[in-house]
Amino acid sequence: MYHRHDAVIVGAGGAGLRAAIELCGKADVAVVSKLYPTRSHTGTAQGGIGAALGNREEDSAEWHAFDTVKGSDYLGDQDAIELMCQEAIGAVYDLEHMGLPFSRTEKGLIDQRRFGGHTRNFGEAPVMRSCYAADRTGHMILQTLYQQCIKHNVHFYDEFHVLDLIINDGVCCGVIAYELATGELHTFHAKTVLFATGGCGKMYKVTSNAHALTGDGMAIPYRRGLPLEDMEFFQFHPTGIYKMGILITEGARGEGGILLNGKGERFMERYAPTIKDLAPRDVISRSIYLEVREGRGVEGKDYVLLDLTHLGSEVIETKLPDITDFVRTYLGIDPVKTPIPVQPTAHYAMGGVPTDVNGRVLADEKGNVMPGFYAAGECACVSVHGANRLGTNSLVDIQVFGKLSGKDMARFCAETDYTPLPEDPEGKVREEIERLKLNTGNESAAKIRTELQAEMMDNASVFRTADSLGTIRRKLEELQERYKSVRVDDKSTIYNTELMEAYELGFLLDLADCLVVSAEARTESRGAHCREDYPKRDDVNWLKHTFAYQTDSGIKLAYKPVTITKFEPKERKY
Ligand SMILES: Cc1cc2nc3c(=O)[nH]c(=O)nc-3n(C[C@H](O)[C@H](O)[C@H](O)COP(=O)(O)OP(=O)(O)OC[C@H]3O[C@@H](n4cnc5c(N)ncnc54)[C@H](O)[C@@H]3O)c2cc1C
Repeated sequence: MYHRHDAVIVGAGGAGLRAAIELCGKADVAVVSKLYPTRSHTGTAQGGIGAALGNREEDSAEWHAFDTVKGSDYLGDQDAIELMCQEAIGAVYDLEHMGLPFSRTEKGLIDQRRFGGHTRNFGEAPVMRSCYAADRTGHMILQTLYQQCIKHNVHFYDEFHVLDLIINDGVCCGVIAYELATGELHTFHAKTVLFATGGCGKMYKVTSNAHALTGDGMAIPYRRGLPLEDMEFFQFHPTGIYKMGILITEGARGEGGILLNGKGERFMERYAPTIKDLAPRDVISRSIYLEVREGRGVEGKDYVLLDLTHLGSEVIETKLPDITDFVRTYLGIDPVKTPIPVQPTAHYAMGGVPTDVNGRVLADEKGNVMPGFYAAGECACVSVHGANRLGTNSLVDIQVFGKLSGKDMARFCAETDYTPLPEDPEGKVREEIERLKLNTGNESAAKIRTELQAEMMDNASVFRTADSLGTIRRKLEELQERYKSVRVDDKSTIYNTELMEAYELGFLLDLADCLVVSAEARTESRGAHCREDYPKRDDVNWLKHTFAYQTDSGIKLAYKPVTITKFEPKERKY
């Protein structure tokens, strides 16, 4: 089936919906989403959105920018970071004006809490910068944005899986989607396309990410020859519920929670003497692994404890109600009385589809853009998070760059005509679906996915070495080969989720390859990429962004310099 819209937004999370709102009234806009919009992962964000409002104590956008640059281990592009931190303030007020019910101070202002790596006066002490609605901030953002979209008659195509990007003569002119309810293919012809498809945490075994986070919007352009930036940097959040990976927000430590090892020691005092349990995530995740490795996990196992018991039931029940429920439901313990068993959980992709600050997708490391193609949110890499994202900065990113992308897309729509479609735009997708459905091989997608997740966890997570990366690279070769024989038993056209899961596994495998090859090449440790065989950061050789291309002869790597404005790279201490 053929559809035509000026602007097609793929993804109905915070980034996609914010862009859609910006386009309303300026262009005919459609949002295509594989999930029902309010099920997007943005809705699970807990702890808050960072902005230097200064409602609790003095703060400034410049301090926010400094913290973000330092948090990024100096890999973030500083012009983009400064812009984001300035725009963050307006982004939070935009949400307030749209009706978002923030938690309030006694004076009725938007309340703010502490979060990892956010400090006053360039690192002096933690600052209250995270604006929140209890521990349901993302839920409130998503509902608020969705209501605005409905009010403005945005056209939604729900439960449509986008599987390919249409490019004609170097210009992006639409997408191909599979409608889950009918099995029908749809061609969306557009003047501009925005990918806002979120992350790819499902390549790891223990993750905070929802099932749908399979990185489709990164893998699709990558398969079309476009680069992916900085994929070796994948964030592990220190406090996932032990074995399950379900997130316990950093806001719990922002409210005063502390981490304890098996001996009952507050070990972060040793690793980050100034800001302790509020150090950035890469630092804390590594510290937990080291404690466990040196035999100081709880009961000799691979976890530590998050202790909230000293906060009192009032703070816990009113400021952290959702995580309290999770812990009671999934662990059967009461965080008011008992510390919570936690371990690092795969959380956030710092890398993704490279863009400029207006969301325009870069076609190469030299900065040329692909006309008509935009990306924003977790699937994109501006890069404002560099080698390690600070908590609360993703919600900022999706609001700020969602809006700026929408704005630039409106301009582009006004100035440009539709590019004609190439011949048989659905061909490639139809072929792949037929291949999967007709395959008589004996491989199961579920089995390959389980192996992928376990091996990535063992070999390409918090610590890496040339050996571990070599092991996982060879394993990926094997899994890619076996993927060719994946059999889909469900041959129907109605709600064939087995088929879509097999398709998504293909995306995950390609992204894992890209991550591993990028990580093998980077012989230094920076942010979330910690090479035990190269433990030091190496600014002389590696202060640069990786650009990875999928080619017929394997993955090709190129590099792009980091933009530095006013914060000279320094040793990172907390
Ligand atoms: C548990 C949890 C808690 C978090 N807490 C915080 C926090 O407190 N503060 C913070 O700053 N960050 C937080 N984060 C990170 C942050 O929530 C996410 O990075 C951010 O919300 C991503 O938004 P997005 O719009 O890019 O994508 P998402 O919200 O993930 O939305 C992706 C959209 O893309 C669609 N999609 C994907 N693939 C396809 C396809 N092939 N075809 C069609 N549609 C597709 C999906 O249907 C969905 O609508 C948290 C993350 C998690 C997992």
